[in-house]
Amino acid sequence: MIIQKTSKQILLMREAGRITGNALKVAGRAIEPGMTTKELDTVIRRYIEGEGAKPSFLGLYGFKGSACISLNHQVIHGIPSSDVVIKNGDIVSVDVGAFINGYHGDSAYTFAVGDVSPEAQRLLDTTRESLYLGIKQAVGGNRIGDIGHAVQKYVEARGYSVVREYTGHGVGASVHEDPSVPNYGTPHRGYRLEEGMVIAIEPMINAGTPAVRQLSDGWTVVTADGRLSAHFEHTVAITADGPVILTMPDPE
Ligand code: MG
Ligand code: MG
Repeated sequence: MIIQKTSKQILLMREAGRITGNALKVAGRAIEPGMTTKELDTVIRRYIEGEGAKPSFLGLYGFKGSACISLNHQVIHGIPSSDVVIKNGDIVSVDVGAFINGYHGDSAYTFAVGDVSPEAQRLLDTTRESLYLGIKQAVGGNRIGDIGHAVQKYVEARGYSVVREYTGHGVGASVHEDPSVPNYGTPHRGYRLEEGMVIAIEPMINAGTPAVRQLSDGWTVVTADGRLSAHFEHTVAITADGPVILTMPDPE
């Protein structure tokens, strides 16, 4: 069931979105070679809790972190660990949510740490751009398939592939609501988008094949071929004025 939000509820969701966006900004400033993913997770948790919010993912389905932190060939759901040290040249996907006022925000960003290869940088640029192309399609009257098609067409033209097993989703009082928002699709197909829908659009894009597998930790999803993967996400409200990104950080 898709739960549409009133403009008043969307206003409330802005605060969760703002804190979520800022948490990624804080993470981006803190991240450096030599740091463990557990230390990065702690920086994120302290920021969110300092704002009076709760990290959405802490304890969600039993997850033991405030953020999912996934390195290089890890796609999503990496568990923060004091054994995992971030190195120069890594790409680090940070996926975070904040809960306040009864609502969640959900956003992800893949950071380039130090000197990344041109190949890695091109994957990051392409994935980020595909997110914004998807967001452009998040307007009333369009269909879910228009979003996925925009993402898929762009990334595949650049030689990359779209992860199929995981998708975007509705966001609200629960982090994961209906509908599912795939990063692939056929134009004019799928649920009709309507004003008041709030969805997370989150392309997960692989440098090689689309196939993924889950590690024996029960969480971490990696590319089957061991090549790089990137992940960018925003929570977006569909309004009369078009798509509104709720998870933008505060301007500098
Ligand atoms: Mg997320
Ligand atoms: Mg999400």
